[in-house]
Amino acid sequence: MLICLVGKSRLRRDFSDLPTVARWLAAHIAPGTTGGERVSGSREAPVPVRLDVLSMLHHVHDPGRDQTGPPSIPATLKSWIRLICEHRGLGYPMLPDIAAMCSWLLTHVEWAAARPWIGDFMDEVAGLRRAAHGLVPWSVAVEPIVDVPCPKCDLRALFRTAGSDWIECDDDELVGGCGHLMSREEYQRHVERLLDAKTK
Ligand SMILES: [Zn+2]
Repeated sequence: MLICLVGKSRLRRDFSDLPTVARWLAAHIAPGTTGGERVSGSREAPVPVRLDVLSMLHHVHDPGRDQTGPPSIPATLKSWIRLICEHRGLGYPMLPDIAAMCSWLLTHVEWAAARPWIGDFMDEVAGLRRAAHGLVPWSVAVEPIVDVPCPKCDLRALFRTAGSDWIECDDDELVGGCGHLMSREEYQRHVERLLDAKTK
């Protein structure tokens, strides 16, 4: 196994959250919704959509495109799907949208975790999330979980992000948690174990 359990959880979390991230981007494709800069005095008519957001959401074939622009979510996912299909001898699946691509990729996380390229895979997927947050920064509603300590570091640093099923230990420098990540089921089992221990 080349990556740890938390690494796999991170990948699963990213794939389960990406469709929500894409919906958020799509909702903010009109300029001005998040204070995107607009050049005053420009003689050109304002572009009705944000091209940076658009290019993240679509697979744009444009060889002259600015290479420093944000990565395309579907293009990135497709390239990994193609690679996994090649390695596993599978036919390329018909996946109509980002949500379908993510659920397909979710079923291959376990297998991918043992590949030498798993680090690149994780980095690129995490990069999509970061790029999306960078383009349309949103004040994420974070719900701290104060009454349950982290199963790894025992610190009361767990939190849940709105729209996500995952519970994370805050590894921010100021908080000092360990970055542990749990699915809703894993968290539920952790709470049950704590309750069990208390009643014994
Ligand atoms: Zn922790």
